[in-house]
Amino acid sequence: MMKSNNLFRLNVGFLINQAVGSYRQFEIDAPFIQIDEDTRFNNVKTDIRVSRVQQGILVSVEAGAVIDLECVRCLDPYVQTIDCNFDELYAFHIRQNIGAESYLPENGFIDLLPLLEEYLTLEIPISPLCDENCKGLCDVCGANLNYETCIHHQESEIKS
Ligand SMILES: [Zn+2]
Ligand SMILES: [Zn+2]
Repeated sequence: MMKSNNLFRLNVGFLINQAVGSYRQFEIDAPFIQIDEDTRFNNVKTDIRVSRVQQGILVSVEAGAVIDLECVRCLDPYVQTIDCNFDELYAFHIRQNIGAESYLPENGFIDLLPLLEEYLTLEIPISPLCDENCKGLCDVCGANLNYETCIHHQESEIKS
């Protein structure tokens, strides 16, 4: 999928020649990140800290977004808040740093978008609920019990 105008491609090359412990903070917001046809994170806000460490550049990301989901109980659409945070080490020399997951490209540009997409997607609830107390639908008449009380539901409540 084409990613145009990637706000999360950062030049961190300026940190390479700075002392260990130097860092810079970025706040990058994006109106949305489209994952696929059905999945789109809106109002994406990130706090990104880029630090010079011994082995390379350590990137720490805190991100938040909202996503439109459908409640599994009442089937109503609702807006779910998604938060995630992660660290990624971009090592200078991948062979000398066996634990590192990424290495720093020679041009100093790193692209955080794939990681951001991955970590945000991991936080999407498997069984989305509009509210943890959502009363769901009546399985006889389909009434949304958050808004109305149907005759079936009253009877079953009295019995139990
Ligand atoms: Zn619901
Ligand atoms: Zn009913």
